[in-house]
Amino acid sequence: MIVYLNICASTHACERLLKTGEQALRRVAVPVIAFFAGLQVAAAKADTVVVTAASMIDVVSGKEIKNPVVVVKDGRISSVSTQKTSMPADARHVDLPGMTLLPGLIDMHVHLTSSPEIGGYRKLGYTSNFWTVMGVANARKTLLAGFTTVRNLGSANYDDVALKQGIEGGYVPGPRIIPATYMICATGGHCDVEGSLPPNYSVPRPGVVDGPDEIRHAVRMLRKYGAEVIKFSGTGGVMSKTDPVDREQFSLDEMKVLVEEAHRWGMKVAVHAHGTLGINDALRAGVDTVEHASLTDAEGYRLAKANHAWLDMTPYTSTYVLELGTKNGAFPESMQKARMVVDAQERVFRGALAAGVRMIYGTDAGVFPNGDNARQFPIMVKWGMSPLETLRTATVNAAEALGKEKDLGAISEGHYGDMIAVKGNPLSDISVLEHVDFVMKGGQVVKGAGAPQ
Ligand SMILES: [Zn+2]
Repeated sequence: MIVYLNICASTHACERLLKTGEQALRRVAVPVIAFFAGLQVAAAKADTVVVTAASMIDVVSGKEIKNPVVVVKDGRISSVSTQKTSMPADARHVDLPGMTLLPGLIDMHVHLTSSPEIGGYRKLGYTSNFWTVMGVANARKTLLAGFTTVRNLGSANYDDVALKQGIEGGYVPGPRIIPATYMICATGGHCDVEGSLPPNYSVPRPGVVDGPDEIRHAVRMLRKYGAEVIKFSGTGGVMSKTDPVDREQFSLDEMKVLVEEAHRWGMKVAVHAHGTLGINDALRAGVDTVEHASLTDAEGYRLAKANHAWLDMTPYTSTYVLELGTKNGAFPESMQKARMVVDAQERVFRGALAAGVRMIYGTDAGVFPNGDNARQFPIMVKWGMSPLETLRTATVNAAEALGKEKDLGAISEGHYGDMIAVKGNPLSDISVLEHVDFVMKGGQVVKGAGAPQ
């Protein structure tokens, strides 16, 4: 068994072996892959899948298309039409009557290896490996909730890279991951966990750096071990204990060095920033996305537009933090900070909309339960964004912000076969996205009609 598993390191590798016609290998290898790959086994049975549904939202044109026929070949969409005659004879057919077909959703800000059930000092009771195990469970929940791609903005021990390797190898189910690995911050900043400990306790802090040289080194080191995006703290945070949430945490010169170094290596930069000065300096330094952006002012809107940056406001998170309170161990200081953020965010969100700032869908899942990522959609609509534009933040906008608009974010020829389906129409009721009935990732059905039993 072990030998065959090693040979079939990926589903594609296994398919190649199966095609050699070795029946003995077929009999053994398929059960082994079925056991280890779980939800991903369906793809070994068919290279071409045709998906039909009652309707489809074309997020690019904004149009609703009746009776769509989407052909997915070898994991990518090969055609989109409304003609049933275009269905290849040898294809597997997945019909979704009464459902609306949409692109797989993208969450631009998650923490797969975190849980709101274990906060503050309670984290000290767990081994570092525990959080990778937590990530395996959360990756599955996230995928089944319809999020086929996530940007993991901060984790320890390179466990988001391990998760990505496990998912891509077919060992565990989960979304496509763009990992940031460690968050970068200044001494005493949002990512410095020693800020909650007395000085006689020490913990490894690879992302905690000061000054241009250390910052350059951190960017290079994180990239070396698997980071594909760089995340840093431009201001204080809500869940950390001692840093003021609105204070800037790097100088403008330090931020410029960080962004320059990340861009040199072809990586985008996400800044965690609640306070006005930190937001504006990060935008002046050239960041690509601003996370939370709670106290953005008119100058911030102007800078974001001028620099083609995106706001990623995570409006569900702080409300959840206040509702949960300190019962799972969160620091009492976090409640005061969450209140300050919540009081500002709706006004700032509406201001950004009116100013025409581009927005993406990021939730900070991990601060609230992973898998509940879609709960943010109704808040954005309530705060004045149209349902179509809200849907775009989690599809085409997110794909563009990742620089992956040719692969992700739309049901279009050449894109990955990443699709979901829901009952009802999200353009009239966005909350239907909280109940996804069908999920396909890379041409493999992982939930709903056509999924492995
Ligand atoms: Zn976060």
